[in-house]
Amino acid sequence: MTQVGVNGYGTIGKRVADAVTAQPDMELVGVAKTRPNFEAEAAARKGYPLYAAVPERADRFGEAGLDLAGEVEDLVDAADVVVDCTPSGVGAENRSLYRDHDTPAVFQGGEDADVAEVSFNARANYAEAVGADSARVVSCNTTGLSRILAPLEEAYGVGKARVTLVRRGGDPGQTGRGPIDDILPDPVTIPSHHGPDVNTVFPDLDIDTLGMKVPATLMHTHSVNVTLESEADAAAVRELFADESRLFLIPESADIDGSGKLKEFANDAGRPRGDLWENCIWAESITVEGRDLYLFQAIHQESDVVPENVDAVRALTGGADAAESRATTEDAMGVGI
Ligand code: NAD
Repeated sequence: MTQVGVNGYGTIGKRVADAVTAQPDMELVGVAKTRPNFEAEAAARKGYPLYAAVPERADRFGEAGLDLAGEVEDLVDAADVVVDCTPSGVGAENRSLYRDHDTPAVFQGGEDADVAEVSFNARANYAEAVGADSARVVSCNTTGLSRILAPLEEAYGVGKARVTLVRRGGDPGQTGRGPIDDILPDPVTIPSHHGPDVNTVFPDLDIDTLGMKVPATLMHTHSVNVTLESEADAAAVRELFADESRLFLIPESADIDGSGKLKEFANDAGRPRGDLWENCIWAESITVEGRDLYLFQAIHQESDVVPENVDAVRALTGGADAAESRATTEDAMGVGI
């Protein structure tokens, strides 16, 4: 059993903790929290041992009626692998903590690529992380793009990808984010950082990305154009994607017109937190004109990276190959629609 610690228990951390707990070959050592808020209480109710991320604030947990199992150093010491789910930039600060304890670490996409030995996507480059000391699971958007680019590259070759990312202003709990009433080119310069981030997984891929930000919280939406290197047709691309367990082809019959209905669909399916771990691709949008493929996909930013984090843990420990790991992760979590 791989002992896994989760440092940072927010949007991503709480989901990773649940996903780790569900795995047959992993055990959650516990989660580190900075303060005893509602998320700390929820972790305690689930029976997850709580560790103080900031030792000077440890007393506050007791005052809030929450028992601590120790401090973050104890968590790192007890874990075979730590998944760092702290806010962007904090992961880099934590790197020395993991190194000092000789504990391999998985970082998140908010960190710069040089935080870890490998920028990771389970479908595209799992093998590169096998036996490494650290991996960075690329961002929600880069994960969503990697999952379609990997099979397209294998089946047809990718000549050039052009993607416009229409991004949610903030997660539902991020009440301070915006815009509230605007549509922003974000960043206004081109390319956005997403294309270079895709290149951390596919170094030779030719990709241009444009970013926008809109007053929405539920999901991101990508408008994708990929110029393929060999002939394809829409039906063949649909078949290719249908074989990918982390791609959900939204059928026309489902009558799902956007993120709101996708989240309703996930809630109706009994998904925890209404999570959609899969890319949600509108099947009807898949169109091929000459060698140009077009499609729309929605990406649930809060959850698509979660199965990838589980696979990254397995890669670092060398516990399974890519296909085995993905299948184990998916069976345990219920990924695949
Ligand atoms: P979040 O703010 O929801 O959660 C971060 C948690 O870490 C919070 O509970 C915070 O209190 C805690 N924290 C702060 N400083 C800490 C410290 N020193 N030690 C331990 N915990 C600390 O953030 P998030 O959305 O979960 O993002 C975490 C990482 O995942 C970032 O790199 C982000 O870019 C990346 N990511 C986020 C999303 C998303 O849409 N939310 C998607 C993919 C990747």
